[in-house]
Amino acid sequence: MSFQRRTQQPLKLMASVSSMLSAQQALRATADGVGLVRTELLFAGSDEEPSVYAQATAYMRIAERFPGKPVILRTWDPAEDKVLQFLAARPKLPDAGAWSWRGIRCYRNRPDVLDRQLGAFLQTAELSKAQVHVLAPMVAQIDEVAWFAERARQRGILRVGVMVEVPALALVISHILSMVDFVSIGLSDLSQFTFAASRAIPEMSDYLDPWQPAVLKLVDSVARSCAASDTPITICGVDGRSGALVAVLAGMGVHGVTLPASRLAEVRQFMSRVSGELCRSAALTAVSCGSAGEAKTAAYAALRLHN
Ligand code: PEP
Ligand code: MG
Repeated sequence: MSFQRRTQQPLKLMASVSSMLSAQQALRATADGVGLVRTELLFAGSDEEPSVYAQATAYMRIAERFPGKPVILRTWDPAEDKVLQFLAARPKLPDAGAWSWRGIRCYRNRPDVLDRQLGAFLQTAELSKAQVHVLAPMVAQIDEVAWFAERARQRGILRVGVMVEVPALALVISHILSMVDFVSIGLSDLSQFTFAASRAIPEMSDYLDPWQPAVLKLVDSVARSCAASDTPITICGVDGRSGALVAVLAGMGVHGVTLPASRLAEVRQFMSRVSGELCRSAALTAVSCGSAGEAKTAAYAALRLHN
């Protein structure tokens, strides 16, 4: 396993990458790896599916900057704000359908597109010295995990994971852990789908507060299942504006948190000042609260900080 249990090794603070510039920023910020490569953004605006060669070249340019470190490459995640023309073919949908027609759902019936991307990932894993991991987005059902994991392994991928960003998957997590090598929570989507509140609508931001206990409880329960089966777990979609939130996630037992590169230094400094014991007590208290405000105040108190 590439991620050690939190009790043996400090929390990994990794960067998210959506462009060559952000890969460069992650390197400069001495990230512990890349916790999420949004491959669909690397090729945003492409009318045609990029060739395996073009894909592998782009992924290599990122991975080669992180020898010996985890680099988590995510398969295409087309969404309402991340349109991929070559995966646009979809059933006739009302506008709101774009919210749910995304991620792995768009290529269950286009396995050829997935296979070509997996081929490019495999080349990256073989040619770079990074610990390449492969991750599927918007997975909701057990059979989707089985389908994806089998396909990725058949093509030679060694480290296969899925994102937990739909509550349905969080609720059946214990059934899928034997099929994957790691899981990665997508906190933004887990929040939007838990609260039925679109990330695209600014007026919904209260629902999407990462301190919402309903979402913290889901994260905690997934982290507990992962700990019970020794499955590494990372989390992305954390904006890093609150070091206390990162401490709470660490206290729940996640092994790595993925942040924008610009937040890494500050969060790293924050985490160097809090003990594992304080993180665990902040996590325990935050999940037992009844509102986002209470959870934040309680976590700050447990961490001995001023809110
Ligand atoms: C998330 O949903 O939290 C996530 C990291 O994925 P994206 O922002 O690309 O949807
Ligand atoms: Mg997401």
